[in-house]
Amino acid sequence: MASRRERGGGRGGGRASQGANASIHAVPIRPRRALFLGLCLTACGAADPPPEPPTPAVAVPAPTPTPSPLPPVVADLHVDTVTAMLSGEVGWDASALEASLPRMQAGGVNVVVEALWIERGVDDPFGRAVQKLKRVRSAVLQSQRQAAIVTSPGQLEAVLREGRLAVVLALEGGTALVEGEPALAELRKLGVSMFGLTWSESSPLADSSAEPRSPGGLTDAGRAAVAWCNSRGVMIDVSHMSDEATGQTVQASTAPVIASHSNARARCDVPRNLPEPLLQAIAGRGGLVGAMFHGPYVRVDRKASRPDVVSMIRSMVGSIGAAHVGIGSDWDGIIQAPVGLESADDLPALRSDLLAAGLDAEQVAAISGGNFLRFWQAVWAAREDPSGAGSDAP
Ligand SMILES: [Zn+2]
Repeated sequence: MASRRERGGGRGGGRASQGANASIHAVPIRPRRALFLGLCLTACGAADPPPEPPTPAVAVPAPTPTPSPLPPVVADLHVDTVTAMLSGEVGWDASALEASLPRMQAGGVNVVVEALWIERGVDDPFGRAVQKLKRVRSAVLQSQRQAAIVTSPGQLEAVLREGRLAVVLALEGGTALVEGEPALAELRKLGVSMFGLTWSESSPLADSSAEPRSPGGLTDAGRAAVAWCNSRGVMIDVSHMSDEATGQTVQASTAPVIASHSNARARCDVPRNLPEPLLQAIAGRGGLVGAMFHGPYVRVDRKASRPDVVSMIRSMVGSIGAAHVGIGSDWDGIIQAPVGLESADDLPALRSDLLAAGLDAEQVAAISGGNFLRFWQAVWAAREDPSGAGSDAP
């Protein structure tokens, strides 16, 4: 990212030499003269050209190139890096960022879900979402093809095969969706692939775990948003929702849902974490829960450290199985990061710790990211409109 040199000169040089070659071959040889030359050379024995290979009657198709193998998926299901970039006026490579591009690369991350978080009380929540989306797009453009925004699991696989970082855009906050379907459609068109219907602020779509309403849960507008997402293979994120809204969303959705950054309440009793029945409900419908690192949501009695996160993940695996657990750090979201998990380059240490704690390599690979690809493929397969807005090119 440090240097972005113009490479137009190199391409221009290439065109110049092509032009020179073209002028060499531009001298015409008339067919009759060519025949005469050929007869003379053969008759005089001056040359004995090898026989021409017969022209095949049917064109032989070029061999299909073997696709590059899919590397292991290493996904962070929730970071707030765009908000930190905007507030700190820094680029994606800034060392102050917990999930900067270089730190993610050092941590082996090849899929990241970048949250477009809507702050409480902003005048134009939809405009704020678009502003953050544009900032992510600009960071990706400036990455010199190290990263690419993806909007379908097929695109995600293609980017991974190229050895690049796949960026998934996610809205965090239903206040940006007061206009309903037009807002959903516009954000989808701009590349958003995951919608969280609330943040800590309850929205017209659902109530938040921090502001439960009575009566609460998923509103009619929220149900319409869920149906809209289902029909287009768009992921629904229940993190931050109240228990009632989470349960109703899982029931209303015809596709699995994700809790991108939520822990188990049985292990750390705060409203923001998921109670056992909801963990079971999400997993039972094929969903995914991303373990998150904000210290007070990992343990309440003291400052959390990496072993506490390992214990939380093991507890979640024990509850719903390794196939339904992921990692959603919440880095750059003003979190109290656990000791030993301060930034994305600490993720290899977490993976080692999970292995040392008794999880097998297959489970650690699934939690690290394999589950996310499978989850999105399931959401994609459940869409009702394969030829519409849910196509590979929104
Ligand atoms: Zn959050």
